[in-house]
Amino acid sequence: MYRWLFLVPALWCGLLGASADAQVVRSGPSACKAIALTFDLCPVRNGSGYDDPLLKTLIEKQIPATFFMSGRWMDRHETEVRALRSVPFFEIGTHGQVHAHLPQLDDAHQREEIAGAVQALKATYGIDAPLFRPPYGEYNETTVALVRALGLRFILWDRISGDPDPKLSREQIAGRLTAQARNGNIIVFHANGKGLHTKDVVEDLYRDVIVAKGFRPVTVTQLLDQCPGEPTHAQRQPGR
Ligand SMILES: [Zn+2]
Repeated sequence: MYRWLFLVPALWCGLLGASADAQVVRSGPSACKAIALTFDLCPVRNGSGYDDPLLKTLIEKQIPATFFMSGRWMDRHETEVRALRSVPFFEIGTHGQVHAHLPQLDDAHQREEIAGAVQALKATYGIDAPLFRPPYGEYNETTVALVRALGLRFILWDRISGDPDPKLSREQIAGRLTAQARNGNIIVFHANGKGLHTKDVVEDLYRDVIVAKGFRPVTVTQLLDQCPGEPTHAQRQPGR
């Protein structure tokens, strides 16, 4: 049921001007042998809304991860927000306030939807969250302009796990992501309990991509700003 999401970024990007689309990040540098595992925390109607076994695996194996939290999810998961914040190799971004279809909203409501979760994280938890991922991967030129005006980075993905799809097995998901592993991958999963095999797939990727193939797991910000293992920009400057 989520397979159609493969098409969404390409579909919307066709409607955008080149300058707007250039601000939409789908992957990191191709020269960087690193991948970013990202986990959306979309609101859920039923269930705990939190994949505790997945989080335990990420922490136990010390896998850096980026979480995109919706405001409505945060409202019901204060303890979990604080738990995620306490892990030094985790990064927190936002995923809209109520998980709305942004292109269907007027400018004012889009701004409210984008800024709401950012302001809630700052006001309640003191967290600065400069990364934004639109619900459903849907956006238009207004979305891109608002995200920029709010000082946020617009983060999509170049690999979708499809983890909430009940028709996909662990082997299908992990096999495809492993076979398609490339430098700079940003992979989207869910950490709200909707992924039936998410924890198992992460364990497979840890073994087959991170350990066996040598891809470093990093947060999105690390992937974009500092390729691990490479000299930083400052270190490359002569005389410094
Ligand atoms: Zn979502």
